[in-house]
Amino acid sequence: MNTFNTRVAPSPTGHFHLGTARTAYHNWLAARSTGGKFILRIDDTDQNRNNDAYVDLIYTALDWLGIDYDYTFRQSDKIKHYKDIANALVDAGMAVYDGDAIRLKTSYTLDTWTDFTNKVIPITNKDADFANNLVLIKSDGYPTYNFATIVDDVDTDINLVIRGADHIANTSKQVFVLQALTDLKYKNASRNNMAFCHVGLIMVKDPVTQKMIKLSKRNAASNLMAYKDNDYLPDAVLNAVLRLGWAHKDAMFDKIHPTVNKDLAKHLFFQGNLKFANCS
Ligand code: GLU
Repeated sequence: MNTFNTRVAPSPTGHFHLGTARTAYHNWLAARSTGGKFILRIDDTDQNRNNDAYVDLIYTALDWLGIDYDYTFRQSDKIKHYKDIANALVDAGMAVYDGDAIRLKTSYTLDTWTDFTNKVIPITNKDADFANNLVLIKSDGYPTYNFATIVDDVDTDINLVIRGADHIANTSKQVFVLQALTDLKYKNASRNNMAFCHVGLIMVKDPVTQKMIKLSKRNAASNLMAYKDNDYLPDAVLNAVLRLGWAHKDAMFDKIHPTVNKDLAKHLFFQGNLKFANCS
C-alpha cells in the first residue's frame, strides 16, 4: 500500500466543527496506518475572519481527541512565499498583475479531474474559465485559499487530501493551480502526485422542514468542544464520527466492537484501504 502524507487544515474562524474532527481523524488514520506523516496546517489567510483564540482552540481540540501531528504551521507565516511563487508564475507567463492582485492567466482545457476512487469529476466550461483566471494573491497581499492550499500541499509532500464534499468545487480550481505549478516545475508538483477524496457532509434533520440539511456551524451539535463539556469521552466521539457513513461488512462486528478505538481503526483502515473515508 502507498504511504499517505496527509493534513488537516482548519481555518480559525469559529468553533472547532465536528466535521473537522471527522476529516482530521480520517487523514490521521490514513497517515498513521501507512507510515506517512500527518500535518496540522492553520489556514489563517482571511484577515477579516481570523481570531487567535480560535487558533488555540484548534490545538486544544486535537489534543483532546488525541490526534497528534508531526508538525504544524500557520499560512500567515508564509505570506512572502506565496507571493514569490505567484511572481514566478508571472515571470513564466502563467499569471498577470491585476492592480495589486495577481491572477492566473492560463488557457488549460482541463474538463475533468479524477478522485481517489477513480471517479471522474467534470469541470464545466464556466468553472474552467474561472479557474484559468483565478485570483492567486488578493490586493491585500494575502493569497487566496485555492492558491495557498496547493502551494502548501506541494511544499509539504501531501499526496492525499481527504476533506468534506463542500470542497469539490474548489478542487476543480485547485487542479488548475496544480497544473500551473507543474508547468513551472515547482518542486514535485504534479497532478499524478496528489489524490483528492471528498467525504459526504454530516447531515441532520431540519426540525422545521424535516429535510436533511448539513450540520451547520449555527447548530450547537456541530461544536466539538461541547461534547467535551458534556463529559463525552474523546474516543466515543471519534467512534461516532468514524461510523458515520461506514459499517463493517461483518454483521457481528458491532456486537464484538461496540466502540472502535484508534488502534483498531488504524488496523481496519489499513486493511480496508481507506474504506472509512468512503469518498466518491
Ligand atoms: N481551510 C479549509 C477549510 O477549513 C481547508 C479545506 C481543505 O482541506 O483544503 O475548509
